[in-house]
Amino acid sequence: MRNIILFGAPGAGKGTQSAIIREKFDFAYISTGEILRSEIKNGTQLGKQAEEIINRGELVSDSIIVGMIQSFIEKNNGKDLLLDGFPRTVKQAEALDGILKELNRGEAKVVELAVDKDVLMQRLLKRAEIEGRKDDNEQTIRERFNQYDKKTAAVADYYKQKGGYISIDGQNGTPEQISVKLIEVLEKL
Ligand code: AMP
Repeated sequence: MRNIILFGAPGAGKGTQSAIIREKFDFAYISTGEILRSEIKNGTQLGKQAEEIINRGELVSDSIIVGMIQSFIEKNNGKDLLLDGFPRTVKQAEALDGILKELNRGEAKVVELAVDKDVLMQRLLKRAEIEGRKDDNEQTIRERFNQYDKKTAAVADYYKQKGGYISIDGQNGTPEQISVKLIEVLEKL
């Protein structure tokens, strides 16, 4: 069973690429950000806890996120996994390893969509106009980049050391052109 982490900074195209590749591969897919947004929309306890944190551009606590992921993986054990927006801290990566080991699923493989920061900012400001996400404003985006540098970039090093880390150009070309490269990589994993 494959455990694929689609990795990249905010605006790298993880959601867009996930949608394209899911038409080709039968993945059990989870986007932690999407789940949190739907919890906020539904006014749940979790949504209320997460809303301010997300709007500030900070990260929701590891324990909440890991609990969410654990129940998703247990429910979907037996299927290939596509993780979008998780893990975002080394603690989350270690917890994921533990869950995968417990379920005998094998190692996680990371595919990074590499995009320069100035391009990410432009993309996110454009997305703000289209999707109206509250956390897509310049100040919050800067904090999301800051969180990425402080906490999430270390996740890349963690997997580079373990092996199973591949980076592709997520910047040049249309989403479809980028997805061709991504599919090529996924077919070999
Ligand atoms: P995303 O849709 O992946 O950009 O996530 C939107 C926001 O949800 C992030 O800025 C975080 O506040 C929160 N979030 C999503 N995934 C995680 C995660 N794995 N760990 C902590 N916070 C998360």
